[in-house]
Amino acid sequence: METKMREISEKVRSNIRLSREDGIYLYNCDDLLALGKLAKFKKIQVSGKNVFFNVNRHINLTNICISKCKFCAFGLDENDERAYLMSPQDAFEWGAAAVNYGITEFHIVSAMHPHMKLDYYVEVIKRLHEAFPDIHIQAFTAAEIFYFAQKNKLSIRRVLEILREAGMGSIPGGGAEIFNNEIRRLLCPRKATTEEWLEVHRIAHEMGIKTNCTMLYGHVESIEDRVDHMLKLRELQDEFPGFQAFIPLPFLPENTRMSNIKRTSAIDDLKTIAVSRLMLDNIAHIKAFWIMLELPIAQLALYFGADDIDGTIVEEKIMHAAGVATEKGISKEEMIRLIKDSGYIPTERDTVYNIIGTY
Ligand code: SF4
Repeated sequence: METKMREISEKVRSNIRLSREDGIYLYNCDDLLALGKLAKFKKIQVSGKNVFFNVNRHINLTNICISKCKFCAFGLDENDERAYLMSPQDAFEWGAAAVNYGITEFHIVSAMHPHMKLDYYVEVIKRLHEAFPDIHIQAFTAAEIFYFAQKNKLSIRRVLEILREAGMGSIPGGGAEIFNNEIRRLLCPRKATTEEWLEVHRIAHEMGIKTNCTMLYGHVESIEDRVDHMLKLRELQDEFPGFQAFIPLPFLPENTRMSNIKRTSAIDDLKTIAVSRLMLDNIAHIKAFWIMLELPIAQLALYFGADDIDGTIVEEKIMHAAGVATEKGISKEEMIRLIKDSGYIPTERDTVYNIIGTY
């Protein structure tokens, strides 16, 4: 083992925070197994032998979007023949149809629709919450919330209050992309900036609303951008804790305007999981989002620091628009088998990490 790796290993084992330089070194090092071993050590320290999953229903309300992010295969113009918009009744029926699967979460994200006002989103949440008060609603990325605030001329805090009153329990981690505003101007100029995204989460955390966070990697960003992204999240979490899980998302080029870029390698995916586990010492969970990583890599990621494998999503549209080859959902039994085969304890959780049961 190289001296630098030994030094980092010492730091991790003594609970000393890793530096930017350490993060960049880990990304560039060739000793994948040493990196995995260290990240697994940290994972075991944080969550023991548990690997978490939940049972949820994704509701993607619309694919009509003004943002036109270059990395997206989901958002469309209003007049595109594939465009759709669920009415609150459609959304209710879509959600209600999954209740008998034992779901504990409605996961609602969509797009930046040119016309829909906040009332529409409130109505969607209210109906589901009133009919199924025990099912947690995790809804709307910080980018969407920032857009709702702009469009409805309300403060971010007010939007969050209105959504919470309607029944929203927490917010997901999407829309973070990569925290480099030059890249954002190039790839998603109409979306919240780095500071705006972080501001939504800061306010949510101040209000006691739990959130998650993501990073889209494998497009035009550098390794330094990735480490800086993690550091910005770590900084916010130090000041205003509230992130529950970090979810690294590999860029899926198919059907996007960046389809010339190659999909990240398995090595890059595993390194990203491991480095994030080691750098984000104040975020409890690292999620291997199987629907984007695909199941075999997600399973391997459990040896590289991940302790959560997301949900047995009943059906998902956004990532599938970008050509992911995974099933649109897997059964709870399959999820349990996959975790057990890796030597961990399958642990079903709710959205805010209360344990529902182990198998
Ligand atoms: S990533 Fe989201 S905001 Fe961007 S175009 Fe796609 S749906 Fe719209």
